Amino acid sequence: MKAPNDLPRIGMSSCLLGEPVRWDGGHKRDGYLVEGLAPFVEWVPVCPEVEMGLSVPREPIRIEEARGRLRLVGEGSGEDHGPRMKRFVADRLARLGQLDGYIFKANSPSCGPDHVKVHREGHVPTRTGQGFFASAVRKARPHLPVADEGELRDTARRENFIERVFAWRRVQLALGQRSSRSGLVAVFGAHELQLRAHDEKRALALGRRVRDSKSLSRGSYLDEIMGILARPRTRPAQAKVLRYVAAELKGVLAKEDRIELADAIEHYRTGRQPLLVPVTLLRHHVRVHGIEALQGQSFLEPDAGEQMLLNHA
Ligand code: SF4
Repeated sequence: MKAPNDLPRIGMSSCLLGEPVRWDGGHKRDGYLVEGLAPFVEWVPVCPEVEMGLSVPREPIRIEEARGRLRLVGEGSGEDHGPRMKRFVADRLARLGQLDGYIFKANSPSCGPDHVKVHREGHVPTRTGQGFFASAVRKARPHLPVADEGELRDTARRENFIERVFAWRRVQLALGQRSSRSGLVAVFGAHELQLRAHDEKRALALGRRVRDSKSLSRGSYLDEIMGILARPRTRPAQAKVLRYVAAELKGVLAKEDRIELADAIEHYRTGRQPLLVPVTLLRHHVRVHGIEALQGQSFLEPDAGEQMLLNHA
């Protein structure tokens, strides 16, 4: 097991971890997060409402909009907690430290990352928006992988979030060591196959920009990488990348190995085998035959924790 500081650091709404911090004194413990994800990540729990000084229990609050201004209003008292939340946010954001992802409580006026009800002053909800704290986190860290617990109940979205968290961590670590253009080229090279499995056209275009352009900013580079990864992988796209790797190995493999690989890829493409089978075979051949150009590819060699989580997503 890795030491805690080797694990991805994930911000988390405290009530999802089972802390009794909700307005009614309860919690919203999420079994998958607490039991499934916990061994592979370090949590950074935050309850904005309690940390900014509200009591447990407390009156529920909601977002109201009046004359274009958003308020965080106590449902009974009408007290506006917005200014206090804004002061808290400025301080708490500075103390969050390095994060590799954030899992928010859905629908909360403080924590909900999207689709939170916005009421017209004293009336029914008329639109949706972002919770106050979640909105500030997203503004301050625009590339950070973010999800709510509801999204993570969907297998494909869960896999995508896990993948983005680990990729974000690798990219941050690599760019922290080498932020020059050669660092960008190296990071792209290690993720090229993974990016192609998400969106081949955009990945190849990014590769050309990274290698040719002296003016690619770190911000637009991260925009592009995280944007490509946010697009879900499909079996046909992944099978295409697998076939590409198999073709690179063609000259060094015995006939029976080539047949075994082709079968494994086809069985994966048609849903009869998990991705792990052809990836494990390819990784083995890349190592045994010392194919340097394919070594260190995140597609073939994901982080051990990432691999475990994806196997059980
Ligand atoms: S949703 Fe956010 S503010 Fe509400 S109890 Fe959970 S952690 Fe606290």
